[in-house]
Amino acid sequence: MKKNSLQRQIILEELQKEKNHPSALEIYERVRQRLPRISLGTVYRNLEHLAASGFIRKLETVGGQRRFDGDLNEHYHVRCLYCGKVEDAHLPILSRLNHTFGKLSDYTIMGHRLEFLGICPECRDAGKFEN
Ligand SMILES: [Zn+2]
Ligand SMILES: [Zn+2]
Repeated sequence: MKKNSLQRQIILEELQKEKNHPSALEIYERVRQRLPRISLGTVYRNLEHLAASGFIRKLETVGGQRRFDGDLNEHYHVRCLYCGKVEDAHLPILSRLNHTFGKLSDYTIMGHRLEFLGICPECRDAGKFEN
């Protein structure tokens, strides 16, 4: 296997092991244990390439760090407003939403994204957030 495709393969494997939607830096820390000489820039470039090719998803979070998801199944996310972590939100896909909005819009709706915002149990229990 060529060096470049081996790097990409390992980056993909490490991302798919993670359920917590790591940032590029977090993926870099893991990949570096297998490829000690890899650079952060190389990891970034490969992540962008994998996302553009549809092998992984790039999570666009408002004002937050860019995060990556190795799970390509359609699903929603919940983000902690305090620590910024992103987890999967286990909610059935609201497929009627596309239809409903399609009727209100001139667009042909292909899908939607939904991100819940909240305070995670760890931050809440640590008293970092008071109601
Ligand atoms: Zn939190
Ligand atoms: Zn996810």
